[in-house]
Amino acid sequence: MLFTATRRQLLLLAIAALAFPMANATTINQLIIGTGSVTGVYYPAGGAICRLINKNQPQRTIRCSVQATEGSIANLQALQAQNINLAVVQSDAQLAALKGIEEFASTGPNSALRSLFSLYAEPLTIVARQDAGINSLSDLPGKRIDIGNPGSGDRSTMELLMRAEGWKADTFAQLGGLKGAERAQALCDNQFDAFIYVVGHPSGTIKEASGNCDINLVPVMDDAVKQLLKQHPEYTTAMIPGRLYRGVDDDIPSFGVVATVVTTESLPEPVAYAIVKAVFDNFEQFKRLHPAFSSLDKKRMTEQGLTAPLHPGALRYFKENGLIK
Ligand code: GLU
Repeated sequence: MLFTATRRQLLLLAIAALAFPMANATTINQLIIGTGSVTGVYYPAGGAICRLINKNQPQRTIRCSVQATEGSIANLQALQAQNINLAVVQSDAQLAALKGIEEFASTGPNSALRSLFSLYAEPLTIVARQDAGINSLSDLPGKRIDIGNPGSGDRSTMELLMRAEGWKADTFAQLGGLKGAERAQALCDNQFDAFIYVVGHPSGTIKEASGNCDINLVPVMDDAVKQLLKQHPEYTTAMIPGRLYRGVDDDIPSFGVVATVVTTESLPEPVAYAIVKAVFDNFEQFKRLHPAFSSLDKKRMTEQGLTAPLHPGALRYFKENGLIK
């Protein structure tokens, strides 16, 4: 009797186990968004996007999580390898991956790349120790500088500036390749005279540096930069606002890119639509999630820096909401 009951129970359990997933046949889409170093702006930006996605779909069929990464170049490689589904990347890196140039010359064009929307401007930012006496680009040769880790957009854009200026590795007393989260401490420990960051403002890394030692931001504008801007329309002049960091009261001129959110054509249309809707329907809330988002503008976010075709899900949302024709 006992034996029979147990067998019946087991049978019922087995039927329930089989029937359960069929009764709840909704697919869960696990989304991983590749960002950057934890003290940059990509990481909290990814967190803000995921938070809105996870909160704002009634069916809860999408679960978004954030991954800290080496930065733009690494994110685009991970997207192509399908290790992540979404990424925050610099607009110049997006273009390079789409065309298969620069760091992407060996892998070739990624025709599956799709853009969703762009975010804020990322000026090339040179943070120097005040005692290093770096007040313009011409003071940089002979100094110890950190140009960022391989895989970061920082390093990639700085290498372009170095080519434009005619600088080589041996132009500098030392050339480092630290991750974003390591740069502030290395600067304040006097391991470097300056570090590069292509980043939105304010950024955690630069706040950390300015809080722990005396810094200045170096204006990034001279004839070579003006020439670079003429040859590369993907870059524009960009101002780093004053009064965001201790000791930096004036606006600092530079050039830069915009941060963009990209995916691939394999992301299902309704999922891309839901992602864009979560951010754009809750825009005021989104803007409050990071100070670098405060001046975001919906219309600009549908066009700036997006060289990869818009994902059809994003396109549908933008059309439905009159953001594009
Ligand atoms: N622009 C940097 C990169 O592409 C990352 C900046 C950030 O993490 O906010 O690697």
